[in-house]
Amino acid sequence: MTDYNKFRERMVNVHIAARGIRDERVLSAMRRVPRERFVDDGLEEFAYDDAPLPIGEGQTISQPYVVALMIEAAEIEPGDRVLEVGAGSGYAAAVLGQLAATVYAIERHATLAKLALERLSALGYDNVHILIGDGTHGLEAEAPFEAILGSAGARSVPDTLKRQLAIGGRLIIPIGEQGNQKLFKITRLSQDRFEEHSLGAVSFVPLIGTHGWPEEDRAATTHVPGKAHGQTLAQMIGAAGEDLPAFDNPAFGAMFDRFADRRVVLLGEASHGTSEFYQARAAITRHLIEHHGFKIVAVEADWPDAARIDR
Ligand code: SAM
Repeated sequence: MTDYNKFRERMVNVHIAARGIRDERVLSAMRRVPRERFVDDGLEEFAYDDAPLPIGEGQTISQPYVVALMIEAAEIEPGDRVLEVGAGSGYAAAVLGQLAATVYAIERHATLAKLALERLSALGYDNVHILIGDGTHGLEAEAPFEAILGSAGARSVPDTLKRQLAIGGRLIIPIGEQGNQKLFKITRLSQDRFEEHSLGAVSFVPLIGTHGWPEEDRAATTHVPGKAHGQTLAQMIGAAGEDLPAFDNPAFGAMFDRFADRRVVLLGEASHGTSEFYQARAAITRHLIEHHGFKIVAVEADWPDAARIDR
């Protein structure tokens, strides 16, 4: 039988604590919640990978590090009431439930909400409540909240959510189009004063709703694999692709700043072998080394050339 405790321990040590998450309460909550119970059947073996995973409806369970980053930034105390917008699999809500008194998590897809609820009840996490609806409205009936987590990328900071924060409350939310999002922490200092700062680049599925992106923008803002939207593969690749400036243009390197905080960047695609591919790969690699401190380049290279460099 698979020993998930071992995988969970490794996830917390290697993918979370080693990257700078220091709050012991967050680390031990993530050591307790069985992430393998929140992924689709058959994906359990990937539950502790350093990556998001598909959960159906074109949505994802977030990368464990990002869940930890958001929850640490939310500075949750044991008596807190917390709202999550975008419950997805229910995993982040389950971790929040280990730290807070009460958690409300809203999900717009009824199928996902139902599954999340089943998982949470099976684990006996009864301080976590899953609701179906458009979370961009927040949850006025239960406000104010000491912390609100937006688990999908908003267009701009929804005023509705800011107004449902308690004084001193924290809203953690990704803002921007997919491919160009930043995670923000907004603290409510007084009735009308809010302080805002960025926690760095992230990549989330879009927050869709009245105070988020409109439904029809979804194809343009979502790059989740496996969602056809009636398009051919070529059309999907065309829609997801981005034009690159010339290699010698400084704007070329800047296109890759979004990966500055990644530990591993994989370079490769279907035109592998073309001259343009090799030039782009060299320019991207140089930019990541010179501007973002990348230290190791691992290559699956042509054997004679690799052997010559090795010698
Ligand atoms: N925190 C989740 C977990 O642990 O699995 C992952 C969240 S997933 C990245 C984002 C979720 O937000 C998706 O399930 C999506 O359906 C949901 N979502 C998007 N817009 C929403 C909205 N307006 N209200 C509620 N949920 C929304």
